Amino acid sequence: MSTKVIFENVSIVLHRPRFPENIGAAARAMRNMGIDQLVVVDPLNFDLDKVLKMATHEASNIVEQIKIFGDLQDALSSYNYVVGTTARLGRQRTMVDSPAEVAERLISISRENHIAVVFGPEDRGLSNDDLRYCHGLVNIPTAEFSSLNLAQAVMIMCYEIFVARQVEYNKFIPRLADRYELEGMYAQLKDILVRISFINADNPDYWLNNLRRFFNRLPLRSREVNIIRGICRQINWYGEKRYQDGKQAERR
Ligand code: SAH
Repeated sequence: MSTKVIFENVSIVLHRPRFPENIGAAARAMRNMGIDQLVVVDPLNFDLDKVLKMATHEASNIVEQIKIFGDLQDALSSYNYVVGTTARLGRQRTMVDSPAEVAERLISISRENHIAVVFGPEDRGLSNDDLRYCHGLVNIPTAEFSSLNLAQAVMIMCYEIFVARQVEYNKFIPRLADRYELEGMYAQLKDILVRISFINADNPDYWLNNLRRFFNRLPLRSREVNIIRGICRQINWYGEKRYQDGKQAERR
């Protein structure tokens, strides 16, 4: 399965933003994090100069391609999955996830679906009515004062989505050692650890189980098994050498 995330499938939706500067700053944050679809619903005092000033030249493309809608329902109609962001929690806002949890979910959903992450107006946030369109809700944890600046909230969400994508890429797992390789390694470890008296010769398997549990926590690759086997061989060589050296010294 491809791990490529289609960021074109993620849009940021600003519902009734009151300050054009926040739209510009949100566009800039999006540009930083590689998300470029910006939707603005019923903005107050929309002033392109003020938006562009905060967006900087780098994010001007995002601003030029902003889609503007008159109401939230229309704006969201083409999306398959909608996440609402809220500073406030309450009885109707109990199923709330953290940005990182939501971002991780969005990465897999975004492969096949259009996603909207919705932000509310600076003064009142999203209403319970607005939240009806949301499949999920996210709250950015804070100290007592929970209300972030709109563009900063956008930044945190975009950042988490960006990071979740990186983690997804890094999840590539190379070929792991198979059971045959591992059993060879355990047999060699048992032999050498008994011989250097690190484990009891009467019941070596009992102690070896601890080592098995330890290695099972971090699945070993073939190369790593070879390193451990190499160390065992070297210990063996060293022991033999000291033994032979000792015998020769006796003969002298
Ligand atoms: N005073 C409003 C907050 C508005 S801030 C209220 O109490 O709800 C503008 C928008 O930024 C919010 O609607 C939300 O989309 C986002 N936002 C601000 N702080 C947030 C937080 N702690 N968690 C999630 N989103 C937040």
